[in-house]
Amino acid sequence: MASLFELKPLVRGGVENTDCTFKSERHFLDLVIDGQSLWEAEEKKREQVSIFCAEYSAEETAKAVRRLRWHEKAYLPNGRCSLFVCSECGDLGCGTVTAPAFQKPESCSGIARKHRWRKI
Ligand SMILES: [Zn+2]
Repeated sequence: MASLFELKPLVRGGVENTDCTFKSERHFLDLVIDGQSLWEAEEKKREQVSIFCAEYSAEETAKAVRRLRWHEKAYLPNGRCSLFVCSECGDLGCGTVTAPAFQKPESCSGIARKHRWRKI
């Protein structure tokens, strides 16, 4: 059965705390499969945004898309690519949610299966 894969715009609101800590406002595209938001399903959703983030460099976003589509070599073990990264810096060292790169359009539905998700 084919799944519907969509990208939907989301905004993670910014916060400035009295102790001088903050969270930056981020504008990004959520990955939605069959109506289920992957960002909403992710327990650390307030700390991570998708790789399709407007505040990150357009060049890095384009690279991430090419990796997902196997047009560029994946940089994580087993051909995996990042879906969600740190909302402040985008660094994988802060944690990431990964999925296998898409080999064929129909394989997009595979990332909906939780057992294929991996947090680093
Ligand atoms: Zn970070």
